[in-house]
This record gives sequence, structure tokens and C-alpha cells, in this order.
Amino acid sequence: MSERLVDRFGRVHRDLRISLTDKCNLRCTYCMPAEGVPWIAKQNLLTTDEIERVGRVLAGLGINEVRLTGGEPLLRPDAVSVVRRLAALRTGEGRMRVSMTTNALGLAAVTDNLVEAGLERVNISIDTLNPERFHALTRRDRLDDVLEGIRAVQRSDLRPLKLNTVAMRGVNDDEFVDLVRFAREHDAQLRFIEQMPLDAGHTWSRVEMVDGQEILDRLSEEFTLEPVGERGSDPAEVFRVDGGSTTVGVIASVTAPFCGSCDRVRITADGQLRNCLFAHDESDLLGLLRSGGSDADLAAMVRRSIGEKRAAHGIDGPDFLQPDRPMSAIGG
Ligand code: SAM
Ligand code: SF4
Repeated sequence: MSERLVDRFGRVHRDLRISLTDKCNLRCTYCMPAEGVPWIAKQNLLTTDEIERVGRVLAGLGINEVRLTGGEPLLRPDAVSVVRRLAALRTGEGRMRVSMTTNALGLAAVTDNLVEAGLERVNISIDTLNPERFHALTRRDRLDDVLEGIRAVQRSDLRPLKLNTVAMRGVNDDEFVDLVRFAREHDAQLRFIEQMPLDAGHTWSRVEMVDGQEILDRLSEEFTLEPVGERGSDPAEVFRVDGGSTTVGVIASVTAPFCGSCDRVRITADGQLRNCLFAHDESDLLGLLRSGGSDADLAAMVRRSIGEKRAAHGIDGPDFLQPDRPMSAIGG
């Protein structure tokens, strides 16, 4: 039987996020400045072999699910092989489950390869259905590519398809209802996300933020929303729409944090282990890997980091400090 990664508060960690790259082909205003950020040097990115090795060590510690993210994970030329290697790992509960969060640019071209490699599902980020707004928000005119990616997933076995929308005042807060309708038409589960203070420009404002309750109030004017079952470690509070099979979720990371049930551990593209999206400390797995560290050394580093995990991120507290690294570098 494999070990379990349990922290001081009894939280059992089963979910690993790996950022494959900090680079991106979009420049969402809430994530990256127009000129990008100082990129991680290529030689400091974890290699495919290193990702597989870390995945194996973590599988031995009770991790049974990996989500690949970034930056844009599909920009990694070896994205399909990373999926294949991770999906072949054994966990205490069978095969490692592998999923991906992507902006869907270029997804259509590789969907079949990803499925064949063992990818189970994808989350696609889409904040607006309006091409001009999409261009303004992401600083790229690529909405059609996202829609093509969504259609490719619909034709594939990747299920369920989840769509992520960051709620933004004056940007897309008049589109919430349309986005739910779009998700219903595409057999997808839409999740609205409260904007978090993780932008490289440090422009986030708590006052401006559209919070989860406001999102639900807007949706309730149009739909009947009925809460769905137990949440477990799912960050989203999920609601059934109009009594049908469509659900919509709200991820209220700021106003209703779910830290108490957090089961996540993160690895940045340059091999730094983080026990929280908002952590200020990182553990240097890359350095350990490249200085001859054994699997036992790597496991000990992971256990130590989880042992130091804080009870909560404290975004709403007076002492909150935004992490130095933006979301694109940490891996969302
Ligand atoms: N590039 C991929 C994408 O956009 O799906 C994967 C990485 S992106 C950082 C992962 C998710 O984080 C996306 O759904 C994005 O909308 C979300 N995100 C980025 N910055 C955010 C912020 N400041 N607050 C809330 N969500 C954010
Ligand atoms: Fe790129 Fe995703 Fe950040 Fe947008 S949210 S800039 S798609 S990493």
C-alpha cells in the first residue's frame, strides 16, 4: 500500500498540478502583461524524464491525479509524451489520472493524440464569446481557435468538458447567462472563477472583483439553480441549471476559500514545489534532481513541504501578500 501525504491539519494530498511551461500564446490581462514576463530559461525547465520521475515519486506518496497546466501546456513540444508517461504510472488506486487546463489554441490538432496517450479530460478557459472582447482581453484575435478546440473535445472521448470563466466587472459580467447557455449547448460544465490577486501587474482590486454571490444572483435572474450534492475537495460549488443535466459551478477562492479541503500540491515549470498557489516558499526539486538526489530524498522534500503547509491562504486578511510569481509561472 502506498503512503499518504497528510499535513498538520489532516488534509490528505492526492492532486498534483504540474506547470509544463510559463510561456503562453495569449496575454490575458488578469494574468500577464502585454510584453510577457521574464521567461524561465530553457535549461531550467523540467525535462520529460524529470517530470515522469517526480510523478512516480509522488504516486508513491498517494497522489493519484495530475493536472497539466502552465502558461499554456500545449506550447510544450513534448506535451503528448508527458501525458503518455504520466498516464502509465501506477498509483495505489490504479492508473494515474491525467487532465489538462488549456486555452485550447492548437488543441484541435492534437486532441486525438492526447486521448490516445491517456488524457482523461480537459478544462478550457473561455471568458467571453465576443471576438472583439476576446481580442481586448487576451491581446490576441484567437476566439475562433478556442471554439475549434471546444468542438474537437466534443467529438472526442474527453469527458466531462469543463469551461473556466474568470468573472470580471465591466469586461464579461453581462455575458454570464450567455456563457451558461453556450456551455449547455456544448454539453460542458461551466465554472465561474473569482479573480484572484495573481496578475503580474499587481492590479487586482478586492472592491472591483465580481464575487461568487453576485455571479449566482445574476444567474438566478435567468435560471433556476439547485445545489448539487457533496463538494468533497472540488473547489467549485456546483448547481443544476433548470432541473436539467447541465451544471454550473462557482469557484469563490477569495470570498469563500476552500483551503480546509485542499488536496493539492504544485510543481512549477522550473521544478519548484509549492504547497499552495499563494505560498511564498518553494522547495527546489529541480536542484535536488540535478544534484543526484535519490527518490527517497525527493519524497522527503515533498513531505517536508506538505508538513509546512499553512491552514489557509488568507487573501482576505490584513497581512496578505501577493506571491512574487504570477499565475502563469506558478501554474494555475
Ligand atoms: N493557459 C491555460 C489556461 O488559460 O487555461 C492554463 C494556465 S491558466 C494560468 C489556468 C487558469 O487560471 C485559467 O482558467 C485562467 O483563467 C485562470 N487564471 C489566471 N489568472 C487568474 C487570476 N488572476 N484569477 C483567477 N483565475 C486566473
Ligand atoms: Fe495564458 Fe492562461 Fe495566463 Fe491567459 S490565463 S495568459 S491563456 S496562461
